[in-house]
Amino acid sequence: MDRIMIKCPIKGQAVPTGILMERALFEDKDNVMTGIIVGPCPACGQNHPWDKTYSFLEGDPEV
Ligand SMILES: [Zn+2]
Repeated sequence: MDRIMIKCPIKGQAVPTGILMERALFEDKDNVMTGIIVGPCPACGQNHPWDKTYSFLEGDPEV
């Protein structure tokens, strides 16, 4: 399992979501993961929804 990171859209800082996911599932284009709320965000302190646009697996290049 890999840890999912998001790039905070407000601060532009990569933060861990605490969510683990298999890479194969994460990279499945049908798995859009919309509507998941991460919060409070460690970077900006707000709750904000995220999707794969802002997410990547830990160890991968940032989006
Ligand atoms: Zn944030």
